[in-house]
Amino acid sequence: MITNILLIVTILLSAICILILLKQKHPSFINYIISFLIFIICYFCGGWIYLSLYLKYIFLIAFIITSLFYFARYQRGNKSGIFNYTWKFFIIILLIIPEYNYFTSRIYHSESINLNFPMKDGKYNIIMGGSNKFVNFIHYNTSFSIYAYDIVKLNSLGSRANTIFPKALEDYEIYGKKIYSPCAGKIISIDKNIPDNVPNELNGKERAGNYVIIQNENRFIMLAHLRPNSIKINKYDSVKVNDYIGEAGNSGYSIEPHLHIEVHEQISSNTIPVSIMFDNEFYTYNDVIKR
Ligand SMILES: [Zn+2]
Repeated sequence: MITNILLIVTILLSAICILILLKQKHPSFINYIISFLIFIICYFCGGWIYLSLYLKYIFLIAFIITSLFYFARYQRGNKSGIFNYTWKFFIIILLIIPEYNYFTSRIYHSESINLNFPMKDGKYNIIMGGSNKFVNFIHYNTSFSIYAYDIVKLNSLGSRANTIFPKALEDYEIYGKKIYSPCAGKIISIDKNIPDNVPNELNGKERAGNYVIIQNENRFIMLAHLRPNSIKINKYDSVKVNDYIGEAGNSGYSIEPHLHIEVHEQISSNTIPVSIMFDNEFYTYNDVIKR
């Protein structure tokens, strides 16, 4: 399971960065930069929410304390040969590529729509989203979904579920939580009765699962993977901002409960994806949204 691998890699790499700083006999600035860059990638892009979001803050404190000790020892003097530097510079360049992609994923290029965040009372995490392929690679597979977001809810421990990968849908914090209309408009397309998947299974035939599409002027807002039979509105109904739409579920092309939201400028094969702001803010992968 990719989420388990992401979690293990995140924790292992972060721990290795700290251990390297602790154990290195001859501290050098370039070695520190390499550890620092790896740690930064883990901190911002790691799969912390599969165990606990708060774990990353514990690792950050450990990294800062270790860094202070490292530089205390470094001041006593250390010299590395110039040839040692060549391959280390190469590693640094390689590490800067994902850092650059992560930090520039907050820059959005198309015209955007400002929506109300569609859920209330809690902490939410963007598990897929942002304005480039590095942070939003699943949605970048489909040209009209490149600005889509996948959102989960976090529990009080900062995890998106009770255990690392539960098989029961109810163990996911977002499952069954109410989804509200992020804008005013008219329901122009809807599906309500597609069963939820068992986690880690996919429904490739009805990819959106239970969904609604709301037309707001010339924009089409889709909320997808909702819980079967939770949608109480009908096609051609009008909705206002914050009207109840349905509950978060796991129907369609979804391996675990989450809300998928995307916006288009028209519904056709030439549809234009529109980037989304929630309450005037553009979010990227791993951002936490509090409501
Ligand atoms: Zn999605």
